[in-house]
Amino acid sequence: MSLPSSSESVAANVLVVEDDRRVTDGLVCGLTEAGFSVRAEASIKAAREAIAEAKPRLVILDLGLPDGNGLTFLRELRRFGESLPVIVLTARDSVEDRVEGLDEGADDYLVKPFSFPELLARVRARLRNVRVSGTEILRVADLEINRLNRSVKRAGVNIELTSKEFDVLAFIAQSAGHPVSRDMLTREVWKLNNRVALMDNVIDVHISRLREKIDHGHERKLIRTIRGVGFVLDASEA
Ligand code: CA
Repeated sequence: MSLPSSSESVAANVLVVEDDRRVTDGLVCGLTEAGFSVRAEASIKAAREAIAEAKPRLVILDLGLPDGNGLTFLRELRRFGESLPVIVLTARDSVEDRVEGLDEGADDYLVKPFSFPELLARVRARLRNVRVSGTEILRVADLEINRLNRSVKRAGVNIELTSKEFDVLAFIAQSAGHPVSRDMLTREVWKLNNRVALMDNVIDVHISRLREKIDHGHERKLIRTIRGVGFVLDASEA
């Protein structure tokens, strides 16, 4: 996958492609509560755009969609060498459909009606580099970000952050290995629609303070700058 370059791209961990509103609502609600950022689309056409724009780390794909069969879309993704994990969700429980789904490159398969905890377990298994435990703790390597009490620890040691530093760190951590651009930080953390030149300085100051607090004294540096793109937390296996 290429890195996001559009200033309009919004980080989403999980893309849900499902046309049944009740199922979508349940998934969006449950996954958001579990700490993922979720984007939902109800057609193949919209899903195609969402993959390009939002750069999800995982797709939950229904097979019966209004503009075609989800398997066709899956085949299309695989043909372009997209290695993005896909969990297929379907009401069709025949053995043939399952085999076909796995043949087309699905990473996992769940038959409706499914239990949400089971789906969540499978999503987490597919995204194990960035573990989200419970509903509020984000973990990246030995860094732990608790969004409930807004505390941060590295290697078990508490780190004092300002409120804005916390928001910046949590936002970058939440994007789960995808770089976060300065435009995204401006919009999502500072809640400004247009980035002004001054913002680059403000963001850089926050990032450099975070580096000082999070990475200083540790051999492994977690906050990485991707030139011309933005920032990312190094979620690779140590
Ligand atoms: Ca459907």
